[in-house]
Amino acid sequence: MGAYADLHRRSITDRESFWIEEARRIHWQRRFDQVLDYSRPPFARWFVGGLTNLCYNALDRHLAARGDQPALVYISTETDSEVTYTYRELHTVVNVMAALIAAQGVSRGDRVLLYMPMIPEAVIAMLACARLGAVHSVVFGGFAAASCATRIDDAKPKLLITADAGLRAGRAIHYKPLVDEALRLAQYPPQRVLVVNRGIDAGFKPVAGRDLDYATLAREHAGAQVPVTWLESSEPSYILYTSGTTGKPKGVQRDTGGYAVALASSMERIYGGKPGETMFTTSDVGWVVGHSYIVYGPLIHGMTTILYEGLPIRPDAGIWWKIVADKKVSVMFSSPTAARVLKKQDPAYLKKYDLSSLRHLFLAGEPLDEPTHRWLHDALGKPVIDHYWQTETGWPILSLAPGVEPAQVKYGSPGFPVYGYDLKLLRESDASEAAPNEKGVVIIAPPLPPGCMTTVWGDDARFVDTYFRTFPGRLLYSTFDWGVRDADGYTFILGRTDDVINVAGHRIGTREIEEAVQSHANIAEVAVVGVADSLKGQMPLAFAVVKDVSKIETEAGRATQEQEIMAAVDRQLGGIARPSRVLFVTLLPKTRSGKLLRRSLQALAEGRDPGDLTTIEDPAALEQIRHALST
Ligand code: AMP
Repeated sequence: MGAYADLHRRSITDRESFWIEEARRIHWQRRFDQVLDYSRPPFARWFVGGLTNLCYNALDRHLAARGDQPALVYISTETDSEVTYTYRELHTVVNVMAALIAAQGVSRGDRVLLYMPMIPEAVIAMLACARLGAVHSVVFGGFAAASCATRIDDAKPKLLITADAGLRAGRAIHYKPLVDEALRLAQYPPQRVLVVNRGIDAGFKPVAGRDLDYATLAREHAGAQVPVTWLESSEPSYILYTSGTTGKPKGVQRDTGGYAVALASSMERIYGGKPGETMFTTSDVGWVVGHSYIVYGPLIHGMTTILYEGLPIRPDAGIWWKIVADKKVSVMFSSPTAARVLKKQDPAYLKKYDLSSLRHLFLAGEPLDEPTHRWLHDALGKPVIDHYWQTETGWPILSLAPGVEPAQVKYGSPGFPVYGYDLKLLRESDASEAAPNEKGVVIIAPPLPPGCMTTVWGDDARFVDTYFRTFPGRLLYSTFDWGVRDADGYTFILGRTDDVINVAGHRIGTREIEEAVQSHANIAEVAVVGVADSLKGQMPLAFAVVKDVSKIETEAGRATQEQEIMAAVDRQLGGIARPSRVLFVTLLPKTRSGKLLRRSLQALAEGRDPGDLTTIEDPAALEQIRHALST
């Protein structure tokens, strides 16, 4: 048996002693009494009774040996600036931030919502919350005011932290007006808003009595030292919202000790990173990848982490490789969409820089198509490791583990089950195990390993009902992905089992988009499906039934309606959820019992065979769809 297979086997058959060893990777202020409490399935509590803190593990613990080592390097091609914080400097500013957050009455267990661009203060605020034992909820800066309001109402934060603006391709995106709007829409708006004023928005207007200026308060709290709040291992560290089949996003709740251990372990075993080296993760702090592998993972592991604000192709398509060369990046983590963007550029950029420090490039978040995988692997001359995970798990489910044994990449596959995950592919019909090369639902037999979500914020029943009820009578965690395993044990992910789509690595529920489209006054009914896109993986496409057909009789009328609908989606969810097109029909294809024939709709939109249509109520609907698609 290979070293990795052996490690994986031990992690499942000898779970407790395996994780006792892994737990040594972090600092425990008080040692845990019990490795795992699984007395209330499927709720798992890891390292029960242990006291620890994410901020202490990320910063304080390294001060003696690494105080002068860069911890965070912020590189912005938007503002053309670079700022380096050593571990000591980052520790200092995090203490200041913690002091000023605490001064707003925030303490252990309170929620703080962050709506931030990719600036150091985003990382500093996350770490400061962790220091105080406050629960951060980072909302991706691309989300619209209404989405932000939903998340505010779910988490009921005491404080919201934002900036005047973000920047994208040189264009300012004003965050503060959006936050003002979100607070107007929310039922439980926080009392205070802390604003990092970057001086980008000339029209910036603070709300008197509510908005606080970060620079002013930071001066007031200069030199503050804030003691670490030690949390019991299962106390929440953060909430991160993600989409599912319903219109209401779920707050994925993460624990503290289990997460720290899983990250520390993965940094070495999966990513093969070494303390003192540099990791460059190109995600956004608003996503789980940003939480785990821009902020907490590399810092817990004593690495330098790079926070990049900008596009992969500005000022030119060599910028990421220049960063790798300049900062001697050894581990890089990006997304398939970014890889596809780069693939369209001049390949000379990949040869221009000295990439000798780079050992592996990891990609995740969406399916990695074989041609892109092969292209990047060849162009870089380095192993490109596709790995698979979810917001819910917080760290990889399927991967190769070059920190354990050299990676044998198979194009198109994210590799093997990660240690700690008892992963199975089950037949949908009877939950029996699929044979090699037979498609099955990817499930994880609980207990979920350390680091994975512990519940849905404020809704234990939703956690169980959403994730553990796919197979009646069997408590199994469903990933809602289809997978297949080949004879060599490599798993391939074949797409979602539910109505969730993945646009450039961002998970969006079609239901949410449908609700946003339906908010337009002239829409009677709508179906949104994900359609294959050569760059973004998938794009939403909407088929809408209007109430007043006179409005779509002319081409100009249709264009106006389409624009209004897209604006409604932008307003409710944000630009990332905007459909590529809105096609108008008078009828949607449904079964006689009224169920939308979603798969057929998607197949037609992708130019494939729509499959079994014997149950369709009115075949005329299909003709309309075909016609609309041909326009
Ligand atoms: P998110 O939680 O937004 O990161 O989305 C997780 C989902 O993205 C998974 O359930 C998969 O559908 C998809 N996904 C993530 N990584 C991969 C991958 N390496 N290959 C295929 N699909 C992936």
